[in-house]
Amino acid sequence: DSLKLVDRLNESLEKHGISNEVEVVITGCFGFCEKGPIIKVYPDNVFYVLVKPEDAEEIVAEHVIKGRRVERLLYEEPNLNVKLEEQKDLPFYKRQIRIALRNCGTINPEDINESLAVGGYQALAACISEKTRDEVIDTIVKSGLRGRGGAGFPTGMKWKLAKQSVSDVKYIICNADEGDPGAFMDRSILEGDPHSVLEAMAIAGYAIGASQGYIYVRAEYPLAIRRLNIAIEQARESGLLGKDILGQGFDFDIDLTFGSGAFVCGEETALIHSIEGDRGEPTTKPPFPSESGLWGKPTCINNVETLANIPVIISKGADWFSKIGSEKSKGTKVFALAGKIKNVGLVEVPIGMTLRDIIYEIGGGIKDDRKFKAVQTGGPSGGCITEENLDIPIDYETLNSIGSMMGSGGMIVMDEDNCMVDIAKFYLGFSVDESCGKCSPCRIGTKRLYEILDKITKGQGTEEDLYELKELGEIIKDTALCGLGQTAPNPVLSTLNYFYDEYLAHVRDKK
Ligand code: SF4
Repeated sequence: DSLKLVDRLNESLEKHGISNEVEVVITGCFGFCEKGPIIKVYPDNVFYVLVKPEDAEEIVAEHVIKGRRVERLLYEEPNLNVKLEEQKDLPFYKRQIRIALRNCGTINPEDINESLAVGGYQALAACISEKTRDEVIDTIVKSGLRGRGGAGFPTGMKWKLAKQSVSDVKYIICNADEGDPGAFMDRSILEGDPHSVLEAMAIAGYAIGASQGYIYVRAEYPLAIRRLNIAIEQARESGLLGKDILGQGFDFDIDLTFGSGAFVCGEETALIHSIEGDRGEPTTKPPFPSESGLWGKPTCINNVETLANIPVIISKGADWFSKIGSEKSKGTKVFALAGKIKNVGLVEVPIGMTLRDIIYEIGGGIKDDRKFKAVQTGGPSGGCITEENLDIPIDYETLNSIGSMMGSGGMIVMDEDNCMVDIAKFYLGFSVDESCGKCSPCRIGTKRLYEILDKITKGQGTEEDLYELKELGEIIKDTALCGLGQTAPNPVLSTLNYFYDEYLAHVRDKK
């Protein structure tokens, strides 16, 4: 519908003879999926939601030409019964701090001039002309930025280790192999603001002493790939990638490589093997990629969301960034709200915000005002959070302490009608399918775990099966080779912990 809407808007502008004065600009995603397609009319800053192609003529005739708002397309706040005009006033956006998503929905991602107009590549220019490599790394260390791909490793430390490795050739890799079911923040950044990622990779290259970067992007993201290709070409033409960037004697270029469709390729070592043309299977660490990564050379791997923060940290400073967030987890995190929630979409909030605020204030509460039951964070590697933990601050440590994890930021909300055993089975099934088969705890263990769950959900389980689920889950966690296997039992263990009564109901009532 969005593309049809663009056509209809252009036709309407043409019809009214104002196509030379008013431009229709395609941006990346605004994040408010529940209310899309969205259009914003400048300079009035009016935010229209749920716009259909047939609304185009009225918007042009009424708003653009006569300056009158199209009331029925304004967002109506259900609790207040008022219509809100500006994006910043909507409860969905009010408490968000958009750093990684700062330009999504604001600029045309296919035009480098729009990126430059909002400060794009200024941080890179400042780094290569005014700062030493150590100063750049120090800024990232002091900012407290941690990897947003799941593990939360300090980004500055990763850069420092890669810089310390002595080699004439080093590499930067952007991990854009986003694979968690329900997570689409990396895709949104790549589609909405690809230059922020290119700029950050060049800054990382300067900091560690690399002159080549690769973006390992999911082949299932055609629009992101198209926009990345356009962005790379435009950055090269503008002298912002390639040889002697901005005449400062620094060379850095970026190429795309495509994901092989396997979830495990998001794991650093598997990803490296995949780029090298081998099977995307993890290997044990050490050696870490910072010492011996791509083709045996020191390699720094950061994910898309992590990188999107870098230019802003350089421009605004480590102190500014580290004031946002919680004590141990600085900055913001993008979450993908999905499931039984009113406002499905992408939100970026300070780390440490409570789940209650995210779900009820930003997310608008549970669909059809049903009762909240749980939220699954961290995708198939995570666990569920129940009502008693709705007021905990969402950060890396706290989530781990209650058996869940931040992961890449997927949040699937469940209401009273969801069976938690079915949910655990769904996520475990995903991990079984995605296991690369290299180690037996994961290859055989997760399959056995799934068989038991399947038996239970078919009303054929026994209470002994529940003990086996727990025991086997713990063994897989302790013995699997990589993060996929080590976290695959999480949804089972966490639902066993918080919703044991539902498992019991299945085995006792044979349903
Ligand atoms: Fe492969 Fe699973 Fe072992 Fe990881 S844990 S190496 S995905 S079999």
